[in-house]
Amino acid sequence: MNIKTTLLTLLVAFKLGYSQNSPSKVYGGEFIRNTDNSVCITDEQRNAIFKEINENLKLLKRNNNLAFNSAKRGNHPLFTWPVTKASNVNYNSIWAISNYVDHNPGAPNQLTDYNCGTKTYDTASGYNHQGVDIFSWPFTWYAMDNDQAEIIAAAAGQIIAKGDGNFDRSCDFNTTTPWNAVYVQHSDGSIAWYGHLKNGSLTTKTVGDMVAQGEFLGIMGSSGISTGPHLHFEVHTNSSYTQLVDPYAGNCNTMNMDTWWQSQKPYLNPAVNAALTHTADPVFNACPTTEVPNLSNQFNLNDQVFFTVFLRDQEPGSSLNLRIIKPDNTDLFNWSYSLTDYYQFSWWRWNAFPNIEGEWKWEVTYLGETITHTFNVGTLSVEDVTIENTSIYPNPFNDIITINSAIKIEELEIVDVSGKSVLKLKESTSEGIKQVNLSYLSNGLYFVTLYSKQNEQKTVKLIKK
Ligand SMILES: [Zn+2]
Repeated sequence: MNIKTTLLTLLVAFKLGYSQNSPSKVYGGEFIRNTDNSVCITDEQRNAIFKEINENLKLLKRNNNLAFNSAKRGNHPLFTWPVTKASNVNYNSIWAISNYVDHNPGAPNQLTDYNCGTKTYDTASGYNHQGVDIFSWPFTWYAMDNDQAEIIAAAAGQIIAKGDGNFDRSCDFNTTTPWNAVYVQHSDGSIAWYGHLKNGSLTTKTVGDMVAQGEFLGIMGSSGISTGPHLHFEVHTNSSYTQLVDPYAGNCNTMNMDTWWQSQKPYLNPAVNAALTHTADPVFNACPTTEVPNLSNQFNLNDQVFFTVFLRDQEPGSSLNLRIIKPDNTDLFNWSYSLTDYYQFSWWRWNAFPNIEGEWKWEVTYLGETITHTFNVGTLSVEDVTIENTSIYPNPFNDIITINSAIKIEELEIVDVSGKSVLKLKESTSEGIKQVNLSYLSNGLYFVTLYSKQNEQKTVKLIKK
């Protein structure tokens, strides 16, 4: 019996033997990304980058500051994964792949990725996708606004070029604004491009500085020609640093035989990225407006709780095993849910009314992996006093907002819908920030991010009228 058959048998047995009634109203489905496919960078931009890289290399060499000259070349690096969740993010995972490198030189719609599939794109103008696109999930703009998806060096090397200061809320290709990016040269001379980064988020290190493998380079953003926050990871080699490398080994990789990954991930990589609880359905706004996730880990007795699962590479014919577990470790509900379609990004939601005070669990098992999310019902115990339970009222507001929090709020930042920061506050008194007069702001939608002393943060959508 192969693994899949064994799993299926187990799932059937599980379903027959142990399922109880499932809670009401499943909702959700595929998350449709904004997918106006276009060149990640134009030919002119690409040529400008090549030129800048070559000029910087010459300059570094002249100053005796070039770490890896042609005499030092050896084996190519072995990459580790270039995207990681920030340390304060408690999702299971924060990324999914939307596109690989296109190995078919024809265009348009002549697609071949390294695995001989079509998870890539090209354009009528003849552009074949040259990198790996890695998106954040769950949430894209919310992740960017809260610095949740960090871009880290896939291999050690020297920063050879760097560009920052560009607009980072692009939704389409109707822009000529360059992206924010970091370019790192490895000991074999190859260069990795990390593109589309968030404005102002880049490492403070500059051209000529060394970075270690896994070192922070910036925050995932949507600068340049981009349809939403993602990393475009592109690698070049040869003496002029212009020969494209596809880091994935596979039957249809026309560029290089061997993998450049330390541990190459599967072509499709189905997983639960997060199991979360909410006060209402998450709201996915039109690009580039930040999602309203309505997250909460604190509920009153008999409140309606929204239970979600966020999946990447949802596999057709697979199923989720789901449990809502009471404080005494018995099940309120225990059920399975079948998934019929392949989706790159999907989310599913159920509702229930937890009816006992204490610490509850929301447990999701998918393809052998179990994710457990805890939440609290009823009065908070001391250790459950976290920023998640902080609220702002009134909302909508006219002049003054009040922050209702059991923990000290030390910092606050307000950004408008375009992502521009309109207020930053720091408060060191013992009670922290409690009230803010915002009468001077014009009417409209804002996002307030609160920061606690423990470095926790929470973003709230606020309307001034
Ligand atoms: Zn790309």
